[in-house]
Amino acid sequence: MFRITPQLSEKVQHFARFPQTGVSLRQMVLFGQKPSKGTLFKASQFLHEELPIRLAHRVKELEELPKGLDKMPSIVKVKDWYAESFQQLLDLPSPKLSDSMRDRIKEASKNKEGFILPPNVHNPSIKLPKNSSSLHPHVPIGHRYYNNIDEVDCSPEMVDYTANFVKTIECIKRRHDPVVTTMARGILEYKQHTHANLIGTEVQDFLDRFYMSRIGIRMLIGQHSALYHGRFRRKDYVGVICIKTNIHEIAADAIANARFVCEDYYGMFKAPPIQMICPGDIEFTYVPSHLNHILFELLKNSLRAVVERYGEDYEDEYPPIKLIIAHGKEDITIKISDEGGGISRSAIPLVWTYMYTTAQAQSIKPEDDDAEFKAPMAGFGYGLPISRLYAQYFGGDLKLVSMEGYGTDVYLHLNRLSNSHEPLP
Ligand code: ADP
Ligand code: MG
Repeated sequence: MFRITPQLSEKVQHFARFPQTGVSLRQMVLFGQKPSKGTLFKASQFLHEELPIRLAHRVKELEELPKGLDKMPSIVKVKDWYAESFQQLLDLPSPKLSDSMRDRIKEASKNKEGFILPPNVHNPSIKLPKNSSSLHPHVPIGHRYYNNIDEVDCSPEMVDYTANFVKTIECIKRRHDPVVTTMARGILEYKQHTHANLIGTEVQDFLDRFYMSRIGIRMLIGQHSALYHGRFRRKDYVGVICIKTNIHEIAADAIANARFVCEDYYGMFKAPPIQMICPGDIEFTYVPSHLNHILFELLKNSLRAVVERYGEDYEDEYPPIKLIIAHGKEDITIKISDEGGGISRSAIPLVWTYMYTTAQAQSIKPEDDDAEFKAPMAGFGYGLPISRLYAQYFGGDLKLVSMEGYGTDVYLHLNRLSNSHEPLP
């Protein structure tokens, strides 16, 4: 069993003093277009610096949680995973550089191009300059990551380092698969412990930061590993990013999946119909799995609202749910309108809180630990808050407007300029 030693705790404190560096979708695409041994090496170095910083911020925050929440067994478990992954990255030796690479760095640092190796943050004697917003103030954010070192030959050690690094972060990603369910269990333990019915804003804000950070970490790891294994070779894909994400296709997919889950859950033959209104083929740069996740969650909510309002015996009379897609210069907006009776105004703030649900609460089974969190029809109260985080992660947003007694409109805004940097809580 992994335990946080005082030495490790000290290292966490050191790393948590450094600011996290955000990357934009556009940067990820530019960087990943033609991955070579050199760029993959460079990206590994960036992540070898960045991931421990992000993990350390989380460990620190998990240690400073309010009123006994930090003592809940499942929360401690999550914290230990973060600390273990942090340690694992620190234990990974830095690479020995090839001669040409070393010359290049010498040259670049003369010109202040920003090759700073080995990673600065791993040196405990380095202190962050006061008021600095970046680890390397003279280097623009993302620059280190995207510096092109194609023409520099990678020594076998550098290639080995990259391979080893990728293996390590993939292991970390797997370790963290059950984080959402385990955190949810921790919050339940806390609710039982405090006899509270709902979680307070402090805990709510913490969870937003925590899950947002998790999305970012998993995106960086997933992207790097996809590039490394050459999965970018799929047409129109750069790692897990699709530069021609076709909304129509993804929405059609989410509609079919949500209706299938609905029919299965209620044991009915025909879930309420969903009409899509989409002006032509809209393509933009996005991560299809994120978009799919959001639409699937929103459609399940609308389906459930309609079924529960009209009853399960009126399969042929359900008013259709409308999914309307609009594309402007800045945003692509998807509106999902249902006639499921809406939400009372007093309940609107609650729908964004974790674990708020009007469905029969689902129990979190221990075997969920083994799998990535997959929400069923309803009952975890995670659908809306997590979907909003996914939308915000790439500079979008999610808004809900309800007419009690009639229905609900949900607006999903997606930023098509894709140059906003990751929000880094
Ligand atoms: P869950 O679906 O697991 O309950 P969500 O976060 O997706 O969790 O939704 C939280 C709650 O918000 C739902 O239980 C429901 O009461 C309300 N809600 C969400 N979407 C709609 C909708 N389209 N119409 C009516 N109520 C909704
Ligand atoms: Mg839901």
